[in-house]
Amino acid sequence: DLSPTAAVTRGSDELFARARAVTPGGVNSPVRAFNAVGGTPRFIRSAQGPWLTDVDGNRYVDLICSWGPMLLGHAHPAVVAAVQEAVSRGTSYGTPTEGEVALVEEIVARTPVERLRLVSSGTEATMSAIRLARGFTGRDVVVKFAGCYHGHVDSLLAAAGSGLTTFSIPGTPGVPASSTELTLVLPYNDREAVAAAFREYGDRIACLITEAAPGNMGVVPPTPGFNAFLAETCRNHGALFISDEVMTGFRASRQGQWGLDGAREGWAPDLMTFGKVMGGGFPAAAFGGRADVMAHLAPEGPVYQAGTLSGNPVATAAGLATLRAATGDVYARLDEVADALRAGVVDAFTAAGLPHVIQSTGSMFSVFLTDPADGPVSTFAEAQRTDVAAYGAFFHAMLDRGVHLPPSAYEAWFVSSSHDDRAVDHVLDALPAAAKAAAAV
Ligand code: PMP
Repeated sequence: DLSPTAAVTRGSDELFARARAVTPGGVNSPVRAFNAVGGTPRFIRSAQGPWLTDVDGNRYVDLICSWGPMLLGHAHPAVVAAVQEAVSRGTSYGTPTEGEVALVEEIVARTPVERLRLVSSGTEATMSAIRLARGFTGRDVVVKFAGCYHGHVDSLLAAAGSGLTTFSIPGTPGVPASSTELTLVLPYNDREAVAAAFREYGDRIACLITEAAPGNMGVVPPTPGFNAFLAETCRNHGALFISDEVMTGFRASRQGQWGLDGAREGWAPDLMTFGKVMGGGFPAAAFGGRADVMAHLAPEGPVYQAGTLSGNPVATAAGLATLRAATGDVYARLDEVADALRAGVVDAFTAAGLPHVIQSTGSMFSVFLTDPADGPVSTFAEAQRTDVAAYGAFFHAMLDRGVHLPPSAYEAWFVSSSHDDRAVDHVLDALPAAAKAAAAV
């Protein structure tokens, strides 16, 4: 039954009240609080395959998938078995383990990285990659793009200054100006801005970091050849090219976004960062790349980096089981699911007269509520044209019909290989009424 359920949310309401009394905003990561769409976040008690079940017993098709990690869906039998087996052998030793070696070998086999270091979050991965790039090059300046998110690293929480090639101001209170004054923020997909920045500061730039295909301003794919251009520009100036594949890694394709561009065009980033899928729902992430660069990392080299829970045996077991299960069939199913959902969105939004632009990289996609006459969304400034109020109405109409979208207009929709036809049909059935609700805003 897909009429609005006026779902019972008493359990979530009570937990949210308890949570707010003891945790800022009631959540442990901001976007979970529904601040962008209003209302009470659903407290989830369990999840299986493509379905979430909240504490009130409501069920939702999950299109967040933990913001990316759950490539195989929830409680995948191979992952659950690997985790249970690992837990039974103890949960952390602070010594090397075989599982770490096997996970790193699996990632090295799928990507161009030659050496890899495991960490526990994407934030740690990008923070460490930047430190290593600065240590390796002996330079200080970091280039990033507006709208790209690389975790809450001080120097990367930077908002663009007033001119195109001026240094940045902190994007949040609590970050000292001195932490962002060596960060240059440029408009995405803008080759001229990149060329100008390197013309002016080339001999001071340690690295350029970019999302391999941005997914944190909605999905804004690189224009053809853009990543190759970035790699080449960095090389010409002795800077390192860091491709952040925390979101796209092992999701956009078997080889991540690099499989869709670098592998075909014959180039590789100097450093890459990974997270999400490679942890199988546990805290595991990584940074790696050229052997000569990674050799600068302690204990082999002088650049310090460490972690008590890095390469945790339970997390590495979950990640390894996930990557080993992520075969060609899994990626084929992800594409099928994404194709069906995109087609459903186009039909429903068109019927409702709701202007929209859908952008994808592999099975990762997002829906911008912008006028297609304005063309594709290729920068953060263009992404910000999306109709946030209409998205909020759409989000809640979908939630009422048992579909849990990301509670923000600027996020990718994540699918899993466990999204079977029943789950897909459930979403397709919910779309027309939700599109009408959004069009009425
Ligand atoms: N880089 C990218 C591209 C991301 O999408 C994210 C998280 N959304 C991060 C880094 C930070 O990862 P974490 O949340 O694990 O710190």
